[in-house]
Amino acid sequence: MHKGKRTIKIVIGVLSLLFVFFIIWINQATPTNHPVITSVLGQKSNYQSLVNSLSTGKKISVKKIKSANWKVPLSGLLNLDAEAAQHAGLEDHDENIQIYTFHLTHPIHGDFLIDTGISSQFYNDPQSLGIPSWLGSLYGLEKMTALTTTEDYINEQNVALKGVFLTHLHLDHISGMSAINKQVPLYVGQGETQERYFLYAATQGITDIMLEGRPALQEWAADYIDVFGDGSVFAIHSPGHTAGSTAYLVNSIEGPVLFTGDASHTSWGWNHSVEPGSFSTDQIRSRASLNKLIKLVKSYPEISVQPGHQSL
Ligand SMILES: [Zn+2]
Repeated sequence: MHKGKRTIKIVIGVLSLLFVFFIIWINQATPTNHPVITSVLGQKSNYQSLVNSLSTGKKISVKKIKSANWKVPLSGLLNLDAEAAQHAGLEDHDENIQIYTFHLTHPIHGDFLIDTGISSQFYNDPQSLGIPSWLGSLYGLEKMTALTTTEDYINEQNVALKGVFLTHLHLDHISGMSAINKQVPLYVGQGETQERYFLYAATQGITDIMLEGRPALQEWAADYIDVFGDGSVFAIHSPGHTAGSTAYLVNSIEGPVLFTGDASHTSWGWNHSVEPGSFSTDQIRSRASLNKLIKLVKSYPEISVQPGHQSL
């Protein structure tokens, strides 16, 4: 064989092999390399105990903080191929959403957040958190407008946080992390850090930077967790959007509230039982989780609902 042709064949072979390794590598990416341990807080519980807590659970204070306005493609937030979405003639467009954090005050255990809102560092200088400008543009960070940053809220209210309950590890849910003291314990859903998905290859390094110097993530170790053992707060494993996606049922002084996380980003999705779209890793599990949460609220309509990024 001609020597030149053989060299070309070898180069093509090596490049193909490298490409295969690259594809294998990105498909093995996890959300973070940060250490994770089983949570020391919370007791394993079940659906019936959660239902019983609606009347007997301890009541705690809940505040909603609107941290930012944002616009993202509806096709990411909502499965536009779902029958109800097709029937309603929904088309892809930039949808108005918000980024929240929720402040829980327990009379004995103190102050906690559900998710983190956005910090001024994330808003003003995302590059300092390892977000390159191309990824910021891909995420549409320039379409974000800060309302109340997490540090402004924490400082104004003089909150001494005892922990953060995360619905999942997507960047827009840990975007307030740099405003939170590095000692504060962080809680995630089971399996959240072990999920493998190619898009995590782009975000893993950023999540690692946001979690750097913080304690190991504490993972809820069951489908239902009674967080304080008094029926005030339950973590409900609701996988699909991500493997560890977690909803929280809080028995607030004003009545029970279900924080869905991104099991439903939108009000329309909740009201029409349509699961999230392309932003999820497993649409079929995500549909099952959404239906489980909708069934709970249909059975107990005294529960009010807070979707992940809009208000009902
Ligand atoms: Zn998400």
